[in-house]
Amino acid sequence: MAAPLLLVTNDDGVRSEGIRALADGLEGLGRVVVIAPDREQSATSHSITLDRPVRVNHLSEGWLSVEGTPTDCVLLAANSLLGEKPALVVSGINHGPNLGDDVTYSGTVAAAMEGHLLDIPSIAVSLSTGSSPLHFATAARFARRIAAKLLDEGSPNGALLNVNIPNLAEEAIRGIRITRLGKRLYVDSVIEKTDPRGKPYFWIGGSPSWESGKNTDHAAVLEGFVSVTPLHLDLTDYKAVVEMENWTL
Ligand code: MN
Repeated sequence: MAAPLLLVTNDDGVRSEGIRALADGLEGLGRVVVIAPDREQSATSHSITLDRPVRVNHLSEGWLSVEGTPTDCVLLAANSLLGEKPALVVSGINHGPNLGDDVTYSGTVAAAMEGHLLDIPSIAVSLSTGSSPLHFATAARFARRIAAKLLDEGSPNGALLNVNIPNLAEEAIRGIRITRLGKRLYVDSVIEKTDPRGKPYFWIGGSPSWESGKNTDHAAVLEGFVSVTPLHLDLTDYKAVVEMENWTL
């Protein structure tokens, strides 16, 4: 049997350190093809390019850059560039965590969501950065382990996997935990200042804080564990559907 085709993409851009580490880490597990945005596309969420043509550039053997979003990359790869559906989509390794509610902003997770929507087992991998040195190679070894498992077993209940890895040396990582998304608390997340012309401006960011919760992705990474959260995209609130059956609209 031919080696499985592994599509690697990200949102930090094709030249980022994380995607190189990921492609290296997956080598030998299958045929690795990298198709990623030509520039940083972090926090672009699940956006898709519809209003202009999308150009693709061949950089080297198995490496292509796309003038578009992470979602564009997966869509083009699966429907055209690869000539076949990949066995796996692996997105990352993102420079910075994608935890809890932040998955809705993440381009890294969105690429895996696109794979998931195309019925391809998909993984998003993020390194919880913050201090030097950055342990991308260690993160890549965990990504490989999880990717190998997914190739063997298929997606658990069809879920996509959101993986966050603490920025630690391999021997300092305490294990892997299956988690749920944590809840982010939006405190001081907008900074208001005045520009040199006296006009106010706003900067969205600030430092996040998190609700402490059992089995959350945030808690796992904080305690030195690799966090693996299975996600699905049926956003329907089924309890609300039941509750609303009594509404008279
Ligand atoms: Mn990013």
